[in-house]
Amino acid sequence: MAHVITQSCCNDASCVSVCPVNCIHPRPDDPQFVSAEMLYIDAEVCIDCGACAKACPVNAIFPEDDLPLQLTAYTDLNKAYFSNAAPRTDAPVQIGSPASLAVADRPLRVAIIGTGPAGCYAATELLARKDVDAEIHFFDRLPTMYGLVRYGVAPDHQRTKGVTNTFAKLIDHPKVHLHLGVEIGTEITNDELAQHFDAVVYAVGAATDNRLNIPGEDLPGSCAATDFVAWYNGHPDHAADQYDLSGQRAVIIGNGNVALDIARILVSDPEALARTDIADHALEQLRKSNIREVVMVGRRGSAEMAATTPELRALGQLPGVKVAVEGIDDGASGAKTELLTELAQQAADGERQITLRFLASPVEIVGNDSVTGVRLVRNELQTQTDGSIHASATDDFDSIDAGLVLRSVGYRSAPIPGLPFDDARGRLPQESGRVINPDAGTPVPGVYATGWVKRGASGVIGTNRQCALETVNALVDDFVANRLQPPEANGSGNSLAELLAARAPAAINNIGWREIDRQERETGNRADRPRVKLVHRDDLFAAAAQVG
Ligand code: SF4
Repeated sequence: MAHVITQSCCNDASCVSVCPVNCIHPRPDDPQFVSAEMLYIDAEVCIDCGACAKACPVNAIFPEDDLPLQLTAYTDLNKAYFSNAAPRTDAPVQIGSPASLAVADRPLRVAIIGTGPAGCYAATELLARKDVDAEIHFFDRLPTMYGLVRYGVAPDHQRTKGVTNTFAKLIDHPKVHLHLGVEIGTEITNDELAQHFDAVVYAVGAATDNRLNIPGEDLPGSCAATDFVAWYNGHPDHAADQYDLSGQRAVIIGNGNVALDIARILVSDPEALARTDIADHALEQLRKSNIREVVMVGRRGSAEMAATTPELRALGQLPGVKVAVEGIDDGASGAKTELLTELAQQAADGERQITLRFLASPVEIVGNDSVTGVRLVRNELQTQTDGSIHASATDDFDSIDAGLVLRSVGYRSAPIPGLPFDDARGRLPQESGRVINPDAGTPVPGVYATGWVKRGASGVIGTNRQCALETVNALVDDFVANRLQPPEANGSGNSLAELLAARAPAAINNIGWREIDRQERETGNRADRPRVKLVHRDDLFAAAAQVG
């Protein structure tokens, strides 16, 4: 018998370092780790000690005997990884920050901008260092914690959101100070922050979406997937948004995990969603929704589908939902194609349907006053000289009727006032986490990046841990080597407090956030839900002010 890693695996590798027999792969020092969809346990080596299950922040690991019914397929999925010639390295892996040889002689004051997983992992790594005495100030333009975990992870993935239980320990740490509801770049500039901190780490994510650049894209009913996700997750900037769900069909352009999340939410039983932390305004609209089919359109083939295998597998378990697959190319093979074929053959009754359509691209969003459909062109795949697969349009067109079209074709970060920006890639220019001035090719002193604003929108939540580790290593190396300018207002917590009082007097501190969290959980508890989110800025500030 062995333990098994399942769907909600976040890849943060907390399990790897606690395994006494090194049987969890890929490991952070394996080349495959960066692109791994999840981690796997080698059943032939596992001694069933359970240490990994205790360390997992998202409860993704179970003894094989105790696997929930809907996760039993993961036994074979774990085994398959090792039968596919995966590496078996016996040397123990060192996870976490290496200590530099030198030890700093003054405290390291760091501002982290953004409280999502990237920022939280950066703080965790900084506090774990034995060679520096770090004091961390978190800033977030929203009056809430956890960024993409709160506003990006789908409400029916509560296990994934469990990673916040690990991050919550930061809020009680005496060296961690929260300033929520403060916008860096406008209310306080980067230069002003630099006067108070040795280093500023940007962990602001990728909040804007790529456009399709086709006619009709701005019609009412044609929207960005990011906005839709923010709406159903209760993001304060989208609490007043309205979506017309009166049509029978919605089309999502793109077939990554975000597109899959939206498709599931649109066809799920609203009474099942009512037991999650979905925003009440979205639940109300979904209860009235007429949508019966969601078509996901992917420009390339089934083998190149962007969604991860665990997320795709979970589609087959949605009660009352059929999965249809169109456009699998004749020569397609591989695990995803096999899984798609399996899903399409699954006999499922359901009055709602998700259709996965491959080898098609939108050429026009159709409609007069609002969206009535999408015009598509069929694509063919071509293998390039470098081995990459390219989709090229044919002259074969057709149309789908739809009342809602959501684009989910990649994300980019917004430029940060006062800092260089790589406009082509939509992120900060950086090397090993040091933000670089592209003209001079030299680091911008004391400015670092981690997460999506550093590497682009890729990976899962735990991918941010290794990303943060690289940035923290660079930052601490610079600090210990005296390459960082000491803050002009070094150690003067008072002058930072004065600056905040002048620019953002309502900023929410640790006590205020704990109160918001308490109120949301308490309201949720009464309704048999994990929490009921406060979704309006005023309500969030008011809740925090009750204790502050
Ligand atoms: Fe390793 Fe123990 Fe987990 Fe097996 S149960 S993978 S031996 S930590």
